[in-house]
Amino acid sequence: MDKKLLTDMQKVSSRCNSLLSMVLFVYFIFYFVEKAATVSVFWLLVSGMLFVADLIMGTTKLYEKRTFWIAVRIAELIVYSFAFITHDTPALLAITSLMLLCLMLQLIFSFDYSDIFVRVITELLTVLPAAAILLINVLVSSMDMKEVFEKTGILMSIVIMGVYLSKIVVKELDKLEQKLFEQRRLADNTKEINEELKLHQEKVKKVNKELGVQKIKLEAAYNRINSANTEMILQNDILKAITSVLDIKQLLQIMTESLKNELMLSCCAIVLNKNTVENDEPICVMKSVFSEKAEATMLQRICDGALEEYMHYRNGYVDNHVRAEQYDFLVDKNTGSLLVIPLHKDNHAIGALLSLYPKFDYFTDNRVFFDTIMVQFMIALDNALLYAKMQNMAVRDGLTGIYNRRHLNVMMDQFCADAVKNEQPLSVALFDIDHFKHVNDTYGHLFGDLVITSIAGLARDMAKKYQGMAARYGGEEFVLAFPEKTVDECLAIVEEMRENVHNMKLEYEGMYVGVNVSVGVTGYPTCCKHPAVLLQHADWAMYYSKEHGRDRVTVDSEEIRSQLNLAEEN
Ligand code: GH3
Ligand code: MG
Ligand code: MG
Repeated sequence: MDKKLLTDMQKVSSRCNSLLSMVLFVYFIFYFVEKAATVSVFWLLVSGMLFVADLIMGTTKLYEKRTFWIAVRIAELIVYSFAFITHDTPALLAITSLMLLCLMLQLIFSFDYSDIFVRVITELLTVLPAAAILLINVLVSSMDMKEVFEKTGILMSIVIMGVYLSKIVVKELDKLEQKLFEQRRLADNTKEINEELKLHQEKVKKVNKELGVQKIKLEAAYNRINSANTEMILQNDILKAITSVLDIKQLLQIMTESLKNELMLSCCAIVLNKNTVENDEPICVMKSVFSEKAEATMLQRICDGALEEYMHYRNGYVDNHVRAEQYDFLVDKNTGSLLVIPLHKDNHAIGALLSLYPKFDYFTDNRVFFDTIMVQFMIALDNALLYAKMQNMAVRDGLTGIYNRRHLNVMMDQFCADAVKNEQPLSVALFDIDHFKHVNDTYGHLFGDLVITSIAGLARDMAKKYQGMAARYGGEEFVLAFPEKTVDECLAIVEEMRENVHNMKLEYEGMYVGVNVSVGVTGYPTCCKHPAVLLQHADWAMYYSKEHGRDRVTVDSEEIRSQLNLAEEN
């Protein structure tokens, strides 16, 4: 039997009991008021005490004290039984009968009510005090037989009603208990299912978590494969491109462009120091996402040697947390990562490669890629440098380093074609060292070589200064060609040069030796209508200078030609 249900039942019957004891107490108050006899006082006190005991039990924890409860109930049983037998008013009979019935049910549910035997014993015991009092009364005071039968009948009715009521209640209780049991079983089942669900949920959560980790790992692996693939493709592309290119500038363009585009760099630049391939100025190439102005500024800074201090980092200089103010050459302030790889040749730094990326921590895993690509790039650069050197050797004079006659002829063809096509002037000066045989004879050939080299140097400076070309035409003869310059402009330049030669003093065994040059100047279209014969005209003019005192400049003209008796149809 469900304990709570039983307690509830006991409470209900106890409340009925309290109510009835109150009714009985009230009845005796009226009874006392009416009779005011000694017996009435006794009943008033007794019923009052029981009512108070019931009241206390109902409102305090004493209800839970089983011995107290049983004591009160037994006292009530005796008192009510006594009242039931000794009083014969219908109201009192009805109250006491109900009280006995109520007590009977309470006692039944206090013991093991499911056992029929216990139940019957309890029912009989409940009416036993009344039956005993009735018997004593019959024997002692020869009670009226009618009353005896009446009370015996009521007692029997109480027992029958008790049996019947307890049977119904037990039946109902059983049903209720069954229902409760089912509910509890269902609740237990639900609890079990819930527990199982919880367990499954935990498992699913765990699997989900593992899947999440695996997903991250797979993504990382995918990214690695992807970047390795990109690097391989890029490596392949760059290799293909650079192995087929011998021109240095083109090689640098391809390299910077490929790296910038494939690695999403914000900037990639390569600088080659001056004199790497007899270049007077550093060679700088840059590809970037910067504005034209910003790119030009940065390129200039790099050309001015901004990367030189990083060239001694043999394994490269990396900064993955760039603060722009740390680097003077950085124009773009959005740079996060920076890498400078020096270019080394025969243990000398010949330049550097600069890579910039907008975010932090970029140059980490890809360093291996950079190292690999740089090895291949350096092979290609070596080839290009060698090719440039060979090309240079083919066009330059071995002693002086200025262009040789063969290259002059090639360039003259080009200058002439451009001059005719663009209808622009083209001027040429040819000069020969005066009495050079004497120099050789007096100071020796080595000193003669020094003179030739020094004058070639002056010619190269003039060419550079006035955007012309200097070449060694023969033994001690030189040519200066100035595209887009008139004869007058050329004359001024050559006069300046003649004077420089005149003022040049070369030391020979403590003495200072000076030399002069005789110069002939001509120009298309003023002096010479066909550019192809410019050199011949310049030679005549130079010859005129030789014939007329040397150390002078002669401008080509009809007049000098006729003086020299040269038949010139053009
Ligand atoms: P001029 O004033 O008429 O020109 O008299 P010159 O003595 O200079 O006569 P010319 O121009 O004919 O002399 C050229 C000399 O230059 C002949 C040659 O020995 C010398 N020569 C040519 N090439 C070289 C060279 O590479 N080194 C040296 N030391 N001498 C050279
Ligand atoms: Mg000569
Ligand atoms: Mg000479």
